[in-house]
Amino acid sequence: MDCIFCKIARGEIPSEEVYSDEKIFAFRDINPQAPVHILVIPRDHIESCDKINAENSDSVRAVFEAIPKIAAKAGLSGGYRVISNVGEDGCQSVKHMHFHVLGGKKLPENMG
Ligand code: AMP
Ligand code: ZN
Repeated sequence: MDCIFCKIARGEIPSEEVYSDEKIFAFRDINPQAPVHILVIPRDHIESCDKINAENSDSVRAVFEAIPKIAAKAGLSGGYRVISNVGEDGCQSVKHMHFHVLGGKKLPENMG
């Protein structure tokens, strides 16, 4: 499958790795929207949050168990924001479910 985030998780496309284990991969966003902007993805290809189900939700659990470790490693002790864009109206540009971890400053209150 020609999915850029599957390729990044497999190391076929270079990225700035932040965290990796058997289920998930985290790397710096190429176009950061905050001083810290990390993308956390499951290694399994799941299109978006809208495709989460009982068969694949282990990957989602792994993502959320890793986020506190990733945030601590990135120095986000003051807090952070986790966002996942879904589909057309959510402005999802990469169709492999990913969670943006944003922080490193006081973030704007408005989320659109
Ligand atoms: P979204 O718009 O929620 O689908 O987010 C996709 C994100 O992936 C954007 O913030 C992009 O900057 C980021 N992105 C796209 N290609 C790469 C890449 N090769 N390495 C790192 N981040 C990327
Ligand atoms: Zn993929």
